[in-house]
Amino acid sequence: MKAPPFAYVAPDTVEGAVAALAQAGEDAKVLAGGQSLLPLLALRLGRPSVLVDVGRVDGLDRIEPDGDAVVVGAAVTHRAIGLDPRLAERVPLLGEVVPCIAHAAIRNRGTLGGSLAHNDPAAELPALALLLDATVTAEGPAGRRRIAAADLLESYLTTTLAPDEVLTSVRFPALPRRGGTAFEEVSRRPGDFALVGAGARVELDDLDRVRSAALVFIGVGGTAVLDEQPGRVLAGSPLTDAAAAEVAAAAAARLDPHDDLHASAAYRRRVAATLARRTLVRAAERAAAEVST
Ligand SMILES: Cc1cc2nc3c(=O)[nH]c(=O)nc-3n(C[C@H](O)[C@H](O)[C@H](O)COP(=O)(O)OP(=O)(O)OC[C@H]3O[C@@H](n4cnc5c(N)ncnc54)[C@H](O)[C@@H]3O)c2cc1C
Repeated sequence: MKAPPFAYVAPDTVEGAVAALAQAGEDAKVLAGGQSLLPLLALRLGRPSVLVDVGRVDGLDRIEPDGDAVVVGAAVTHRAIGLDPRLAERVPLLGEVVPCIAHAAIRNRGTLGGSLAHNDPAAELPALALLLDATVTAEGPAGRRRIAAADLLESYLTTTLAPDEVLTSVRFPALPRRGGTAFEEVSRRPGDFALVGAGARVELDDLDRVRSAALVFIGVGGTAVLDEQPGRVLAGSPLTDAAAAEVAAAAAARLDPHDDLHASAAYRRRVAATLARRTLVRAAERAAAEVST
């Protein structure tokens, strides 16, 4: 099937994009890499009257260190995230998950902003934004606002962005000195969306005791699930394999995964526990070694 007819505009400023969205009303859509939006239109699951292409907007494709963080423009592609040395040094988990996202052709076009705005429950980048405590900047007719990732990712394919807002950048705090992160997922074939995935971040003190820890899960609900309970349970103790297994099992038990054609809820929960344990242990090892990739 082909997409229904739509008007197309390609402004070169954020203000121009916001004005085009505001003028077109609620059924206008931002177009970024088109890797999620265009298949939806081809399936006639959406009928926007106008597509506002942000691919030519000046500055949205920049990656810039900013104090103890890195600011990544909304139009930065998955591929560019995977190749950037500043991200590899300061927020290594971002580049590490890129090979898990779809196929090379999709990674060449798909963008960070598109992934967060689309908010697929099995997408990796929204989950990392949650786990790494990222802050999103959006611009609309009322001006600019900053939104914590936890307040952006609302529910299945839904965010708290208004229809006339453009997501412009995402600020990722750099890993702390004794911080480590890890991510793993299970999918049927390379390039498929994950059936289940888990990510962990761990910060240790100088005696290798846990200062903070958290887990994130994908593919187990309407949106990515952040669980900060492991940090509360583990705080002040060394992260032994037994402790990791215990908190991972408890975190998986708190999930409410669904049954579908691809996997049962019980399978998803079991895999989530295994991936959570492995990623916690790996993140702690990296934190202890002060190795960030
Ligand atoms: C076969 C296939 C496999 C895939 N596998 C994976 C996978 O394993 N993991 C994964 O994470 N993704 C996967 N994807 C999705 C891919 O990563 C997309 O690139 C991504 O989800 C959307 O990014 P995009 O730039 O293409 O956005 P688009 O498709 O252009 O837009 C997606 C949505 O976001 C909105 N939007 C885009 N940019 C902005 C912005 N700056 N401000 C406000 N709203 C905006 C659009 O209006 C639209 O609603 C897959 C896609 C395909 C086709």
